[in-house]
Amino acid sequence: MKILVVNCGSSSLKYQLFDMTNEEVLAKGLVERIGLPGSVLTHRPGSEKYVFETEIPDHEKAIKMVLDALIDPEHGVLKSMDEITAIGHRVVHGGEDFSGSVKISDSVMKALEDNVELAPLHNPPNIMGIEACTKIMPDVPQVGVFDTAFHQTMPPEAYLYGIPYEYYEKYKIRRYGFHGTSHKFVSERAAELIGRPIDELKIITCHLGNGASIAAVNKGKCVDTSMGFTPLAGLMMGTRSGNLDPAIIFYLMNKENWDVERANAFLNKECGVLGVSGVSSDFRDIESAAEKDNDRAQLALDRFAYVVKLYIGAYAAALNGVDAVVFTAGLGENSISMREKICSDLDYLGIKIDTDKNNTRGKEVDVSADGAKTRVLVIPTNEELMIARDTYEIVKSGKDSL
Ligand code: ADP
Repeated sequence: MKILVVNCGSSSLKYQLFDMTNEEVLAKGLVERIGLPGSVLTHRPGSEKYVFETEIPDHEKAIKMVLDALIDPEHGVLKSMDEITAIGHRVVHGGEDFSGSVKISDSVMKALEDNVELAPLHNPPNIMGIEACTKIMPDVPQVGVFDTAFHQTMPPEAYLYGIPYEYYEKYKIRRYGFHGTSHKFVSERAAELIGRPIDELKIITCHLGNGASIAAVNKGKCVDTSMGFTPLAGLMMGTRSGNLDPAIIFYLMNKENWDVERANAFLNKECGVLGVSGVSSDFRDIESAAEKDNDRAQLALDRFAYVVKLYIGAYAAALNGVDAVVFTAGLGENSISMREKICSDLDYLGIKIDTDKNNTRGKEVDVSADGAKTRVLVIPTNEELMIARDTYEIVKSGKDSL
């Protein structure tokens, strides 16, 4: 069975085609600058790379180009579109409607539309991607896999804010959490690597990329996560502030004469390690500036590690212990020094890493020191594969949801 995984942003579309008999990636690629001058499709059927520059005004044209590339006699990997059994879509916000992946139907589309208010930047392009596929391949089943779904198991004391309950009822203001597909993937993989059933394990998963979040996973179910009503909350990130005293916003709006839009852009684009370091939002740049004795770059790294450490402590409390800590995403998978910094002085939790084993990037490795009570694992995330698996399960089982 061949599954196409699609991840639509406002001006981009990423895709991967899986053969589910062995979970092999047959081809993958990216359409960029949709609706903008200079739009381009980069198609990779294996190690080669094909670049097509042409006008791509909308997501429908982008999907058409992807399908043409997939069935092209020269650089394609399929004989015809009919070989695609199903399409799995990444959808950012499922609100409270979806606690698992679902087969797309009219009622699901209606629920997605209703959730646009909760993710005005992310859900509309996700919906456009689904609509484009429906137009071009009306008979191929489609599945929505939500970033929020894995976190729907959080109990109310974890997901409610300290505001009047009526605003939760009226506007659905609560914590949702994001990166759920990644937290689910790496927690399941951690249990496999540890060689114990997931329903015996307490795992803290650290998805540390440009956007970053942490989840507390008890027996395979998320019980808490650091992102909130929006992906702005929790850890300090590349450019996002993470948690701060909300009164700072009113203070700044007053002092700087900002409107809501300006304040929003500030929190999302100018804060985080970029704001603290004044160097970059990219951890590689910050690490190299810190090596050259840039004090603010060092401060950004120190603060980032400190906040991650606080969350690990908090989630060990939420879980009443921890069996494994997992590092994933760009920074978690690749930054040797950041993992070392985060894991220092966590011996009270049985966390101790072996510096030699930790000297690794982008690979699945158990980096815990011999005899350490708590395992520390580096596990590259694979959200696309998780989406393909869920899509496969739903289509194979004939069920409407997982
Ligand atoms: P997102 O998907 O949220 O855009 P990624 O998971 O791709 O983010 O992670 C991007 C981050 O990972 C960047 O800040 C980048 O600097 C960091 N990163 C990637 N490789 C390394 C590395 N070798 N050392 C340190 N940081 C790295």
